[in-house]
Amino acid sequence: MRIVCYDCHEEQSELEFGYLCSCGGLLEVVQDFSTLDADKLKRTFHQRLSERMTPYASGVWRYKELIYPELPESDIVTKYEGNTGLYSSESIRQWLGIRKLWLKAQSENPSGSFKDNGMTVAVSHGRSLGYSRFTCTSTGNTSSSLAMYAALAGCESIVLVPNEQVSLNKVLQTLAYGAKVIEFAGTYDDGIQFYERYGREMGLYICNSINPYRIEGQKSIVYEIAQSLNWEMPDWILIPGGALSNITALGKGLNDLLELGLITRIPKVALIQAEGANPFHKMISRQEQQLVPLKHPSTLASAMNIGNPPSWKKARDFLLHNEGVTCSVTDEEIMEAKALIDRSGIGCEPASAATIAGLRKLIAEKKVGREESAVCILTGNLLKDTDVLSKYHLGGLRNAKSSNPILSAELSLESIQGCL
Ligand SMILES: *Cc1c(COP(=O)(O)O)cnc(C)c1O
Ligand SMILES: [Zn+2]
Repeated sequence: MRIVCYDCHEEQSELEFGYLCSCGGLLEVVQDFSTLDADKLKRTFHQRLSERMTPYASGVWRYKELIYPELPESDIVTKYEGNTGLYSSESIRQWLGIRKLWLKAQSENPSGSFKDNGMTVAVSHGRSLGYSRFTCTSTGNTSSSLAMYAALAGCESIVLVPNEQVSLNKVLQTLAYGAKVIEFAGTYDDGIQFYERYGREMGLYICNSINPYRIEGQKSIVYEIAQSLNWEMPDWILIPGGALSNITALGKGLNDLLELGLITRIPKVALIQAEGANPFHKMISRQEQQLVPLKHPSTLASAMNIGNPPSWKKARDFLLHNEGVTCSVTDEEIMEAKALIDRSGIGCEPASAATIAGLRKLIAEKKVGREESAVCILTGNLLKDTDVLSKYHLGGLRNAKSSNPILSAELSLESIQGCL
């Protein structure tokens, strides 16, 4: 594999892994798949489904040939991430009125979000370079994922967390895994700016969302979807967007599958943002060429509360080349969809529910047909934000139409039966 700058195309030396190109551009992994055979890969990926306790039992490393072929197995730090369920929910399908629907539950990852798909690769890479200290800034899930893998590898992690609009659950999870958590006054975007300025000087391995090895790992989400559906793609894939790393990985993974001949067409992709943090949606829908950062992003879906998404160029290029669309949904629409996903038994955190809310809107706008099929990617776990759950079910949020408050009764047969 080679590491190339996305802007100036200059090749970087892998061993001097830096955070950004000296020109300020994002780095990208470029792989050569010319010697790979699609049928052989399919057989290999299928056989590995029965692996136990080897790196190939992971839903990321199962696809090692497409993610990081050169990495020695002994450097892999894995918690058998991926391998998440692809569910069809009849209740949600009916609510949407679409022919076919699947939900890809990345919430079932070991630290509870899709960040694990990428973090296993970044930490493995960092360790192979000899790093023992890792760092990131995060809206929460990246921190918990990094802290988990660093602990697993016997390494240290240091995370910078904004002091506002971050779910306490995620911070507590990060602390529990033993990370040094440094809270700062500011937003996620301020944290990113700090790394752009001082990242190199810190001398730590940086695991922010633009880390190109994380992107390689996150490609496995769409590989798994393809393999589960026997290499037949749905009409649509919907994904929430904050920093836009996941849409970038989705696009890159789809291009890989097409190049290899594992799929025959790229499905249409819809990127969903929350109305209070939708600079990318604004740029695409206004057909602008440059992203205008939002100074004060604000949404209940804290995992997407980002005003200046670092990967916007990569995301834009993929969407524009593939007739992708964007959509923006309100917090109220997100919470309504979330309540439905939770009650279906699948469950997710607010940011993930934006996909179902977005699909409903796109169907109403006739951009998605009722005769089509769709996969929605649920990015994080239901227990990642108990504060929002509490406000929704126990009071504090307006228009909580599907709230399920606690009942209270005397412990007598009559009183209990009165509640039924
Ligand atoms: C990180 C995250 C997102 C946003 O993904 P980006 O790659 O930042 O666009 C969405 N949902 C959850 C649960 C996340 O943790
Ligand atoms: Zn460059």
